[in-house]
Amino acid sequence: MKQRTYINELSEKKQETVIIYGWINVRRDQGKMIFLDFRDTSGIIQGVILPNSNAMEIGKTLREEFVVEITGKVNERPEKNKKSGILNGDIELEILHINVLNESATLPFPISGDTREVNESIRLKYRYLDLRSDRMHKNIANRFKIQNFIRNYLEKDGFLEIETPLLSAPTPEGSRSYVVPSRIYKGSFYSLPQSPQQYKQLLMVSGFEKYFQFARCMRDEDTRGDRQPEFTQLDMEMSFVTEEDIIQLNEKILISIVEKYYPEKRIQQIPFPRMPYKEAMGKYGNDRPDIREDKTDANLLAFLWIVDFPMFEKTGEDNVDGTGEWTFTHNPFSKPRDEDFEKFMSKESIGEILTTQYDITLNGLEIGGGSIRNHKPSALRTTFEIMGYNNERIENNFGHMLKALELGAPPHGGIAWGFDRLMMILEQELNIREVIAFAKTGDGKDLIMNAPAEISNRQRVDLGISIKKDSLWKRY
Ligand code: ASP
Repeated sequence: MKQRTYINELSEKKQETVIIYGWINVRRDQGKMIFLDFRDTSGIIQGVILPNSNAMEIGKTLREEFVVEITGKVNERPEKNKKSGILNGDIELEILHINVLNESATLPFPISGDTREVNESIRLKYRYLDLRSDRMHKNIANRFKIQNFIRNYLEKDGFLEIETPLLSAPTPEGSRSYVVPSRIYKGSFYSLPQSPQQYKQLLMVSGFEKYFQFARCMRDEDTRGDRQPEFTQLDMEMSFVTEEDIIQLNEKILISIVEKYYPEKRIQQIPFPRMPYKEAMGKYGNDRPDIREDKTDANLLAFLWIVDFPMFEKTGEDNVDGTGEWTFTHNPFSKPRDEDFEKFMSKESIGEILTTQYDITLNGLEIGGGSIRNHKPSALRTTFEIMGYNNERIENNFGHMLKALELGAPPHGGIAWGFDRLMMILEQELNIREVIAFAKTGDGKDLIMNAPAEISNRQRVDLGISIKKDSLWKRY
């Protein structure tokens, strides 16, 4: 096999003849000479076909985005053409031989600049091209780097990443679940997870003690601008911990990420400040206030914990889970604060009971949340009773959790980060679609694969499903 040199290695190969592979980024034909910039996953290099070169004839036929194999000599640029501060600014590739591996039709939109200026539906339809652009490529690469950093960090701290099922039963997170029809058990459905909440708690009962997962979560919500029907959480759960342990660990990870990957950014306050929910609502009218001292400073990161949330709220119309007068505010598995535990168990002054829930916000956006859980079955049962569930419903929906808690469940708690949103803020993007490789539109469509889509008659028969004519969604 031919020895490939990546473009970011070229500066170590001055005067050598090398082979590079990639795309033609820019082409400037100057008549006697042709300048061609090449791009691979590692960077960009300027190439030149000198007058009388054997490569001139084929060079004239090349267009932007052709895929090529180039043999060339790495030369120092003439002094006056040197550009400092950019990769390969002091060298260029003298093109000796060109092998076209594939041609390219004219792209539906230019990718050499900032594709945020292009209509987003077109970008999403041709996402693979959008991802070729510099900014999107960097966003996706950085996303991986941060994930990898977190994985290593947590592994060193004794965590295990454990995968939990996608096909399961509903878990309450306050939204609707997506459902998947079962072919074998016609008329029955799996639910896609809104979060791995129950499984991660069951892993604590299994004795793993420190779990994490980059977990895909699916929530069937009415389309709200910056939401995606599927998104990624950094999900964690730990045994024998307090709120303080979880808060401190998470702060350490976040600070390390910023220090290592975003050294140009400044964290406003360390340790991160904490604000009771009541104060946030009173002062700012919302529970994710933007407390930046200077909102024009793009490099300022103001993390803030919100604590002391009420545990229950009156059921409202938005609520899909409540049957009684009260429903949970965040997570039905949360434990109340110690001071309120007796009130909770005796179901008194329900509106005043505070939960161990902590949310973490950054520059006015919620980027995560978690709590210490009720690890005693009687306490978990109390939550459902306060929400007006009868015994049958409790048994049917949560009998398995109550049983597990009877079988030696340690005290435990956890948290989940909205990983896409964190990446969005760190990369200074305005919506999470910019940091998700194959994002869906704001109204939940996958424009590449054309989903959601109807299924064939044959599939419907297989699944025992019939669709009411008048409920059909009209495509156009
Ligand atoms: N499962 C919760 C959520 O998705 C997070 C947690 O409490 O750990 O919001």
